[in-house]
Amino acid sequence: MPKSVSLHTLGCKLNYSETSTLAGKFHNNGFDLKEYGEKSDIFVLNTCSVTDNADKECRQIIRSVLGRNPDTYIIVTGCYAQLQPHEIAEIHGVDLVLGANEKFKLFDYVNGFEKKELSCVFTSPINEATEFEYAYSSDVESRTRAFLKIQDGCDYNCSFCTIPLARGASRSQDITSVIENAKKLLDGGYKEIVLTGVNTGDYNFTDSSGKNLKLIDVLRELDKLNIPRIRISSIEPNLLTDEIIQLVKSSNSFCSHFHIPLQSGDPETLKLMRRRYNRDFYENLILKINEEIPGCGIGVDVIVGFPGETDERFNNTYSFLDTLPVSYLHVFTYSERRNTHAVTMPGRVGVNIRKERSRILRELSNRKKQKFYQDNAGNVNKVLFETIREDNNIYGFTENYIKVRTTANASLENNIFPFEITVADSWKFAEGRITG
Ligand code: SF4
Repeated sequence: MPKSVSLHTLGCKLNYSETSTLAGKFHNNGFDLKEYGEKSDIFVLNTCSVTDNADKECRQIIRSVLGRNPDTYIIVTGCYAQLQPHEIAEIHGVDLVLGANEKFKLFDYVNGFEKKELSCVFTSPINEATEFEYAYSSDVESRTRAFLKIQDGCDYNCSFCTIPLARGASRSQDITSVIENAKKLLDGGYKEIVLTGVNTGDYNFTDSSGKNLKLIDVLRELDKLNIPRIRISSIEPNLLTDEIIQLVKSSNSFCSHFHIPLQSGDPETLKLMRRRYNRDFYENLILKINEEIPGCGIGVDVIVGFPGETDERFNNTYSFLDTLPVSYLHVFTYSERRNTHAVTMPGRVGVNIRKERSRILRELSNRKKQKFYQDNAGNVNKVLFETIREDNNIYGFTENYIKVRTTANASLENNIFPFEITVADSWKFAEGRITG
């Protein structure tokens, strides 16, 4: 009977938290957990549908695992497994493919973990009855930060996105469990909880008394727990309400940091993407946050190379972001996804142009980040330090998401200290000194 398992995750924070839950199930069933890269009897790959060349990446990872141990029993799950199970089943060496509904019930589907000639596929259609499975995960290196899943799925229909197909309709963790799980993480020594979901802002739960609860209700309850830090991982602009901004402004727990997907600064492209806001709305939101919470860190997701993105449309995005007071960008290069509306649209952008636009926006992001760091020079901000690195430095993040570095000192690890930024000449990190 196999006794050891290693797991690997592709994709988002939500996937990481779900892999941790799977690891917990193996642990509870008596398995030894091995690091990814170590030899193990079973290997689980939790895939993502957003990854470019998902198929190629899966093959490469599986080949390298089997290269270390040809007898490893290979399980593939996650969004790509839900969307293209048979494509995965054809990859040499794959033993079991589990869809979204089957992922957390893997011990119901297999017990012997014996390699056979053919792979088994268990998937079912995603629908509104799809269950919610609680998940949380921690930083691999430290117990500094935990990702807590509070919502799954999405009811939006952005024209480029396959996530609703892979994860189903929006559904939310009941508020009592969210609070209990947050308390457990706090008791476990975590200093920061990051709330995750596919569309976290769309949190919607009706409790036993019939009261309908939204994200703000969960945030208010979490705020009462005196958690040192809470971050909202990402929130759609149309769901970031004034109440949420005011709570973050007044709270001692919530970090002054938002990550707000924009996707395009060109009005026409935004419409084609079927986003639920326009450029003016987004701009006003960013200006309002800056006014209410000066120094707030603001990250922006943006996609380049969407169909129909002419030079003029790309320049619209560039100039919009150039002047917008945000602190960094996450740049994604558009790639065609089966079964999306965007794949049928005219105006395909050449791959080299996509790459070049991505490079241009990444450079802009570095400049914006460095400027944000410089604007914070001289400020004292609370930093949560992580683990000491091999270069004998320790890194951490301020509440407003500035990465800082200072000389290692064991007392700093997984603790929060006031820190003054004195040197901010790089976008990679700022330096400074502990002031308390
Ligand atoms: S909001 Fe749009 S991009 Fe985000 S998961 Fe839902 S459909 Fe996809």
